[in-house]
Amino acid sequence: MLYELIYRSTAKSTITDQDLKDILETARRFNKDNHITGCLLYHKGQFLQMLEGDFQTLLNLYERIKHDRRHHEFLLLHMKETSQRIYTDWTMAFKSLEHNDLGNYSAVATFAELETDEEESSMARSLFKAISSDIVSH
Ligand code: FAD
Repeated sequence: MLYELIYRSTAKSTITDQDLKDILETARRFNKDNHITGCLLYHKGQFLQMLEGDFQTLLNLYERIKHDRRHHEFLLLHMKETSQRIYTDWTMAFKSLEHNDLGNYSAVATFAELETDEEESSMARSLFKAISSDIVSH
């Protein structure tokens, strides 16, 4: 059964471009071997990540990600069964929205505004769907 998980978190204040590269390198290696796909977004010191894969693999990975000192203040927004992947071709797509207005994609101005209720978790999912067509290179 295929599941998708979306959480938001706050990056540590000293996060660097090299940290982001290291995170993606680790993520892509593990995700490839474990049939996980998804996308990591970064905007104004906040992460929003979608992970797609098998239920138990996703939960185990989320537990590991939550212990990573490169970010904190986690909120699990969405964990649902799904019939198809949004990020079929991506072991972990990445987009920094530092220079974009999040308003182009969503009704929220920052990821921190996203909460766990049905409306906002489906808004987070819609955001990933909207962004997927804008991701063109690794
Ligand atoms: P280890 O490699 O043993 O590391 C233990 C701890 O050391 C880490 O938790 C971290 O706090 C720290 N650490 C490790 N490497 C570095 C480094 N280069 N610089 C600074 N500190 C470091 N992993 C995936 O497999 N798939 C994902 O999709 C994924 N997404 C992530 C998204 C975010 C926003 C972050 C911050 C991390 C993500 N990771 C992902 C990485 C994940 O958190 C773990 O680091 C990774 O799974 C390895 O786990 P481990 O227990 O073997 O950690």
